[in-house]
Amino acid sequence: MPFTTPGAQLKVLIDERQLQQRVKDLGEQISRDYQGKHLHLICILKGACVFLVDLIRHLPVDISIDFMAVSSYANSLHTSGEVKIVKDLDSIIQGREVMIVEDILDTGLTVDYLTRSLRTRAPSSLSICALLSKPTRRIKEVNATYVGFEIPDEFVVGYDLDFAERYRNLPTISVMKKDE
Ligand code: 5GP
Repeated sequence: MPFTTPGAQLKVLIDERQLQQRVKDLGEQISRDYQGKHLHLICILKGACVFLVDLIRHLPVDISIDFMAVSSYANSLHTSGEVKIVKDLDSIIQGREVMIVEDILDTGLTVDYLTRSLRTRAPSSLSICALLSKPTRRIKEVNATYVGFEIPDEFVVGYDLDFAERYRNLPTISVMKKDE
């Protein structure tokens, strides 16, 4: 590993080849499902950016993108459970086929809040695409149509997932453990 935070260890969980293959598979699945339609993708900042830019290159369908930011972990290994929109959409989604693109489903609180909030804006459909999911952590049930990988209850970094804004540039998903 080229760099680590002092007192932390990283272990690769999903390597680059597995990630790229799965993103390609998801892109093909989404393209089949949205063939002939216009799909509006909403990328949740910042952790889903790398996933989004890789995913859209496997979507040979008519798409547009927008970004939203919500409050999340704030430099901690534990979620606060608080969710609020800190950057809203630039676009109107009423009557559109919309997909939330998220990095990871953990407790489910973020995506539960987002789906409830976006539904009030009357999209014609609203689906969820998450690169990762930790099913054992769920507090709110989330109905995600597209999930890249189910992973165990471990804190992961890389491929745009951060710890205190670091590690986003790692090409792998790695488990981060703090030294005892
Ligand atoms: P939630 O608990 O609401 O489902 O997840 C909220 C957010 O917490 C995710 O979008 C993600 O940004 C962050 N998160 C959850 N689990 C992890 C993790 O293992 N690593 C990192 N870096 N962020 C996580």
